[in-house]
Formats: sequence, C-alpha cells, structure tokens
Amino acid sequence: MHDKVDTAKLEKRRDIRIEYGVPLRSLRLGLIGKADVVEFHREVNSWHPFPVEYKRGKPKGDNCDKVQLCAQAMCLEEMLNCTITKGALFYGTTRRREDIVFDVALRTETEETAKKVHEIITSGITPKPEYSKKCKSCSLLELCMPKVCSTKGKASKYLYGFINQSDSLPDPALEK
Ligand code: SF4
Repeated sequence: MHDKVDTAKLEKRRDIRIEYGVPLRSLRLGLIGKADVVEFHREVNSWHPFPVEYKRGKPKGDNCDKVQLCAQAMCLEEMLNCTITKGALFYGTTRRREDIVFDVALRTETEETAKKVHEIITSGITPKPEYSKKCKSCSLLELCMPKVCSTKGKASKYLYGFINQSDSLPDPALEK
C-alpha cells in the first residue's frame, strides 16, 4: 500500500486525478510535509482537492489521524487558495475508507496541535514518553522505547536519570 504511495506519481480516471507523494506546506501553521495521496475530483469547471491518508493499522481511539489529515487539507487550502471540506482515511487492517469532514472543531484542534508543536520546539524540551495503548500502533515505537524510558517504573526512572545525567558527564576520551 505504502510502496504504491511512495513510487507512483499520477493516475487519471474519468472524473478523478490522483497525485501521490504531494509536497505540502503552510506558512500560517508553520508546517511542512508530504501527503500520501491527493485526489482531484472534477467539478463543473475545476478540479477539487481531496486528501487521502493511508494507515497500516485500524482506526485509533483518539483524533490524531484526523488531525494529520486536516493539517494536510489546511496546507493545500493555503497553497491552492481554495476550501476543502472533506478528505478520507484508509486503514489497511479493516480495508475501509472513512470520509472525514473538516469542521470547525477539527480545524481548531489541528491549529492548537501545530501551536503546541512549535512551543515544544521553541522550549527545546522533548516531552517524556508515556507508554499507553496507542504506542502499539505508533511508527516511533522502536526509537521512543516508552516502556524503558517512561518515568513511571523504578528501572526506567533509573535509566532516565542516568541518560540525562550522562549528558553532563565529562567525555572519557577528553579526560586522557
Ligand atoms: S511510542 Fe512514544 S511517541 Fe509513540 S505514542 Fe508511544 S510515547 Fe508517544
């Protein structure tokens, strides 16, 4: 599924043009990225963008996939000077495509998320990982290691403290 998204560039059907790996940016939200797929649906005299995001797993309990899709739509709106009311999420496990409406609540949540990301970047402090159900389907699981680095457990507290402390320890190579 993702191979096709990564290799194909353009497909045309009667009333739909499909573009893969579309670069995105929003100056207003301070976001940059790439959409898996943007469909362009033929309307009377124009082609209307409709972002589609492909996920390997199944729908999640929170809004994170919807926020990602909405951010893509908001980037496209700014780039193409248009309004996008809907997009879709496709889940590999269920093989189902779900239409997502970009309503005021989802747009507000997306803007707030972008703002929080910038606050984190500006502060230079990475939030501590907290292991939860959503970690199982997170693509960062192997890098993040939330079970080891979470501050909840005793061993993890020790490791976390050790890792942070070691940042300020002198480099043994320089001590010689
Ligand atoms: S693996 Fe890390 S980044 Fe991913 S959801 Fe869990 S805590 Fe967050």
